[in-house]
Amino acid sequence: MARTRCTDRVIGGILASWRYDISNISPEMRKDYEQHFAECPHCSSRQNFHRGLDVSLAVLTSLAIFFFLFALAVLKHIKPLEHVAFNVFGLDIADTYHMLVSAGIAGLVFSVVALLLVLTTTPAPSYLGGIAAEQARLIEERLPAAIKAFRSR
Ligand SMILES: [Zn+2]
Repeated sequence: MARTRCTDRVIGGILASWRYDISNISPEMRKDYEQHFAECPHCSSRQNFHRGLDVSLAVLTSLAIFFFLFALAVLKHIKPLEHVAFNVFGLDIADTYHMLVSAGIAGLVFSVVALLLVLTTTPAPSYLGGIAAEQARLIEERLPAAIKAFRSR
């Protein structure tokens, strides 16, 4: 990250304490901060960095949930392979199976908790929601007049 200096250290300090998230403050108050983001390359790059971090955390925890679900599905459905592995490694089938299932469930629960924490403590949902709303608005603008009239009824 570039070692730039904030142009206004008071506003910069406030923004840093919010992790550069101004989505929760009223639109009138937001104007000043938005102007600061426009003027200050330091704060706008920090804001981009933090939102990127939030989104990657949400993506990583979602992926973890997916992989643990996949692991549990594999454990449930690939019995013959499992049998070979257990014979080769000389492991007790029932114990190892239960251990793997427990590990899978624990991992799944942990990932769900992690995703919930990410979604509740970071502005990732409103950030992604904002992108989605913007896309919806762009699509709506391109709709033919006939469909627009139908929708407004
Ligand atoms: Zn700044």
